[in-house]
Amino acid sequence: MLIYLNGKFVEKEDAKVSVFDHGLLYGDGVFEGIRSYDGCIFKLDEHLERLYNSAKYIVLKIPLEYEEMKKAVIETVKVNKLKNVYIRLLVTRGDGTLGLAPWTCDTPNVIIIADTIELYPKEYYEKGLKVITASTRRTGVDAFNARVKSLNYLNNILAKIEAKIAGVLEAFMLNSEGYIVECTGDNVFIVKNNTLYTPPVYQGALRGITRDCVMEIAEKLGYRVVEQPFTRFEVYIADECFLTGTAAEIIPVIQADDRQIGDGKPGKTTKKLITEFHKITKTDGTMIC
Ligand code: PMP
Repeated sequence: MLIYLNGKFVEKEDAKVSVFDHGLLYGDGVFEGIRSYDGCIFKLDEHLERLYNSAKYIVLKIPLEYEEMKKAVIETVKVNKLKNVYIRLLVTRGDGTLGLAPWTCDTPNVIIIADTIELYPKEYYEKGLKVITASTRRTGVDAFNARVKSLNYLNNILAKIEAKIAGVLEAFMLNSEGYIVECTGDNVFIVKNNTLYTPPVYQGALRGITRDCVMEIAEKLGYRVVEQPFTRFEVYIADECFLTGTAAEIIPVIQADDRQIGDGKPGKTTKKLITEFHKITKTDGTMIC
């Protein structure tokens, strides 16, 4: 496996950064998770746009111009001779001193890894996921804007641990007002009377690229799509619920906090969206050629 590290391709064993990298010391950096389907890097421009916006928000100057970065991502997939792959792109603050101060870090580290990922075992796409509501809250937008895809995931990790302890794979995360914001690594949708609801990003959710894509597909299929805050009440009485994310794609949720959602099986709208989503993953992006 060849890893892109600051302009060079190096073997996995040699892909190393300093212990003084503030990405490691403080989680100071940004990242993207991207997918390639049959040689098509799905929504690459959207991911790169989010990466550059995230970096801008944390005052991190990415040392590559946009087109150079795009080329580097494509090359990483190409040199590894892969067509179906998960791409992890990271930009860390770089090496500095032991204090917080980011201005001690001269040059950000740019890392691109092309590998596989399995967020949830395959069977859950057929039978649906069970989730709990975590007591760990999503970071409020007043503390740090959730639209930034940063290397700080500790509260999401704590929520994931809560899910594991409860014997399920995923957890809803609430904001400080008790509205459901998203899951630990996915956005959330509910379906009620043929209308799709998803929490607005101002509630503290990442603006997921899969989320945007699903909203577009649903509208094309004739569904009403509403970005509206909702609580656990709306989830418990929903007809359907599903999660979206680059790694997860679209995954049905059939139980929340031990309560059955709808008829306890993946719903027809969710299934329709999954089918439509897979129709565009091989075309809606940048082809590796
Ligand atoms: N929310 C969080 C917290 C995430 O980390 C992710 C990405 N794994 C998502 C939502 C989904 O975003 P996307 O569809 O862009 O992958």
